[in-house]
Amino acid sequence: MVIPHTREQAQAERRSRTVRGNTLGRWFAAFALTICIGINAGFALNAARERDLAIAAAQLSATNLAESLGEQASEAFDGADASLRTIANLVSSSGTAGLPARKRIQFTMRVLIASLPRIFRIIVFDEHGRHVVSNYSLSGDGERKVGDRPYFVYHRDHRDGGVYISGPGRNRHDKTWVMWATRRINHPDGSFAGVALAAISLDLFDRSYASVNVGRRGSITLLSEDGIILTRTPRAFIGHRFHDSAVFSEPYKSLRSGWFVRPSHLDGVTRLYAFRRLPNYPVLIQVALAESDYLSSWWSSTRINLSVHTVIVMMIAGTGWALWLQIGLRKLAEENFGRLALHDALTGLANRRLFDEVLHREWQSASRNRQSLALLMIDVDHFKAYNDTYGHEEGDKALIRIAQTIGDNGVRAGDLAARYGGEEFVVILAAAELRAAARVAERIRAAVSALVIVHTGAENGMVSVSIGVAAIVPIPFGDPSALVKSADRALYDAKRGGRNRVSDVCGYDAAAPTT
Ligand code: GH3
Ligand code: MG
Ligand code: MG
Repeated sequence: MVIPHTREQAQAERRSRTVRGNTLGRWFAAFALTICIGINAGFALNAARERDLAIAAAQLSATNLAESLGEQASEAFDGADASLRTIANLVSSSGTAGLPARKRIQFTMRVLIASLPRIFRIIVFDEHGRHVVSNYSLSGDGERKVGDRPYFVYHRDHRDGGVYISGPGRNRHDKTWVMWATRRINHPDGSFAGVALAAISLDLFDRSYASVNVGRRGSITLLSEDGIILTRTPRAFIGHRFHDSAVFSEPYKSLRSGWFVRPSHLDGVTRLYAFRRLPNYPVLIQVALAESDYLSSWWSSTRINLSVHTVIVMMIAGTGWALWLQIGLRKLAEENFGRLALHDALTGLANRRLFDEVLHREWQSASRNRQSLALLMIDVDHFKAYNDTYGHEEGDKALIRIAQTIGDNGVRAGDLAARYGGEEFVVILAAAELRAAARVAERIRAAVSALVIVHTGAENGMVSVSIGVAAIVPIPFGDPSALVKSADRALYDAKRGGRNRVSDVCGYDAAAPTT
């Protein structure tokens, strides 16, 4: 380990340790962050996948339901259409003029109604829209005229118009919801002879839709192609025009079946809509499942997962934070320990231990390079008296200021200022000869005097220092303490010479002196 011997080197060493600590901390933070991001990403991906699965399952069941309910509606319309054809043919061939003919027609109507539970009325109107025969009346209902009804006008004007679906409306007798399928009746020569009408009960559709579970906010709707709600479970909006639904706009209006997710025009609830158009009739069935229903179990499992996930991420973050603090505290303790081990607690200068090590190393280096090594031994004059006069605490403050002055005036990069003990300081000046060292010493002495720390017990009335200077070119295997002794001797000379002065010395036993 390289021992720092100047304040700058010690700071550099501390900085480098801080950088190492920071790097470790940064790596750890990056690691913890990566784990948290990984867990978050995994959670988000899994949640998104499960949501897609829930939507796919809802789409499949809604589509299947629309398919089978469409089939059921088709069968009902086929039954109505077949009945109307039968009646139209019968009327066309036998007419309705005679009672026997009307009886035969009524009998056929009743047979057809008995086999088709959704049809409860069949009526024949003549070319003027007059009720002539029905499953419940042989004489007709003279009052009842439908000549102005859209279905009547349509059949009168369309020779091959097929079946016409209209409604919904209320049944005159029991006020239940009904719709009407109608077909044109021709005379044998093809001219317009009237209209056959079958009333279809919508209650029966409702009953079968009600047995299907479409969730709390789902619905099943039977719509005509011009946007009118024929029936709907739950029962609402029947007879309303619904033409701005997506099924009547591109790209769905030309599709036989399909699905989409939209907020409802009617109540604003987001639903998955699956629709199926009936092949031979201008009617379509639409099954709607509310998003809040088909995603509810996904939501509850995601909420549980989110709680567990949050606890795990917080635990990782908490552990990371605790470790981070631990690393920080350890780093601080190491730094303090290192500082205390090598520096003087009062003045902040290097301590005696660091001084001895650096002196030894500089001695070796100077010996190898045949360079001069200089040492200043600095002693505060009459410091006992200063303590006695101003107190130990003031003495400490004076020592701190003097130490700072020594550091500011005598130390280049590569030099070392240290507290030698008590009120004595030393400065190692690497690659310095005696004269240059003496100049540094004089600068320090003058700077301390310039502090003007009042000391009534001193000769000149203020705190001063005496400095002994020694410099040598060390010989290999010599003893560095010889340099200390020389500097100490020079210091003794300075004291004897009257204090507040610099004294240098040359010549000693262990090394060749330099001048
Ligand atoms: P001289 O001029 O001959 O050096 O006289 P002196 O009084 O400075 O020398 P002496 O060795 O008699 O006394 C040194 C004094 O330095 C004694 C001690 O109270 C004081 N001293 C040593 N270390 C500290 C310290 O850490 N703080 C304070 N306040 N005083 C200290
Ligand atoms: Mg002393
Ligand atoms: Mg002294």
